[in-house]
Amino acid sequence: MWSNHINYYLSMRTHELVLSWIEKQLSDGHLVLGGRLPAERALAEQLEVSRTSVREAIRILEAMGLVRAGVGSGKDAGTVVIAEPAAALGSALRLHVATQHLPVADIVETRVLLESWAVSRAKADAPELKEAARLLDEMDVSAAVDDFLALDVAFHLALAEAAGNAVVSTIMGSLREAIEGYAAALTANLPDWDHTADRLRSEHRAILEAVNDGDGGRAATLVAAHIEGYYREAGLGKAPAETKP
Ligand SMILES: [Zn+2]
Repeated sequence: MWSNHINYYLSMRTHELVLSWIEKQLSDGHLVLGGRLPAERALAEQLEVSRTSVREAIRILEAMGLVRAGVGSGKDAGTVVIAEPAAALGSALRLHVATQHLPVADIVETRVLLESWAVSRAKADAPELKEAARLLDEMDVSAAVDDFLALDVAFHLALAEAAGNAVVSTIMGSLREAIEGYAAALTANLPDWDHTADRLRSEHRAILEAVNDGDGGRAATLVAAHIEGYYREAGLGKAPAETKP
């Protein structure tokens, strides 16, 4: 068990090395949109890392929609750069660090699970809801992205606490940095932050209104759509039709 942890951290460092190398190739213009990465074995030998590390780095880039991993052989084989890399790769690396190596898709899924449960249980007279309302007022006049996102997470924590379950509150609290981290990293993928911020503000109001109305079902639906919507707007996650059974 312990050695698995050691191996995990060792491979984590080396796949970051592969990511850094690819980022440098892109920023230096040696690798361009439509270009191909060296073959897995060649890259592993050149960087003196395992092929597993190369695969892990490519898996991360693929999850970010930056490359398409190749299959087969001949001139169409190999991993191809399929997205404009400059901004997006930076954000892939920031995401990786910001989430403390937790997969963002898993954080998002966990949030939906916990927060939709929490808002469906929140008591309309819970004192945390007053704090939540105050945070929304603060968000209305908060233009800076970092301030906004810190308030946004605080709002979600207040909502979760209104359910009165100490364990759910603690889990949400422990995710605070990871949530703030991925939300901040994903802003690089958003076409228009001010537009997104306005949408988030009105979604927050609608969620809180549903909780205050005692309509837990509506609150749960709205909070799930709110969390998943941001993730999708940043170009992550699958459209419902692509979801495998
Ligand atoms: Zn929010």
